[in-house]
Amino acid sequence: MVNGHMRFNVGYLLESPPGTKSDIEVEFPRLRVDEFNFKELTGKFRATRTGEGIFFEGRFETLTAVDCVRCLTETFFPTEMIMEELFYYPASTAPPGEYVVDRDGDADLGPLLRELSVLALPMQPLCRPDCQGLCPECGENLNERACACKRDEIDPRLAVLQQLIDNDDGGDN
Ligand SMILES: [Zn+2]
Ligand SMILES: [Zn+2]
Repeated sequence: MVNGHMRFNVGYLLESPPGTKSDIEVEFPRLRVDEFNFKELTGKFRATRTGEGIFFEGRFETLTAVDCVRCLTETFFPTEMIMEELFYYPASTAPPGEYVVDRDGDADLGPLLRELSVLALPMQPLCRPDCQGLCPECGENLNERACACKRDEIDPRLAVLQQLIDNDDGGDN
């Protein structure tokens, strides 16, 4: 697993006049940014020297690992991210919370990628639409096997009806 390799040195652009551009292409079979796992990440973007720093614009495609909300199985979701972000230089000129190019001329796109992927992912990710989830009693993954726990699977409305029938039976005895 590669970590921190979304760091790009743009020192050559910083020394160039505003408007100077550089096209960058990346490809990572696996990439890890903090707790985020990306697979088959490809990106094509342009870095442009502006008066304020370096403007990055482009597109990434990847598979992002997320835990299914029902069964907690790690699942890879196709994710497309559009990047349009100014990295300020020097860092001291950046408003709070903005991305910066550091003193060595490095721009770390990792945190931005992480932010963009959160926006691109579904709110309630499921490993598959009909995921059966985990048994609330024993924790068994019900997609893999049924467990022995007894669960009341009767619709509550039908359960009331069932009770009425049971009471009725009782009356006959
Ligand atoms: Zn699931
Ligand atoms: Zn169970």
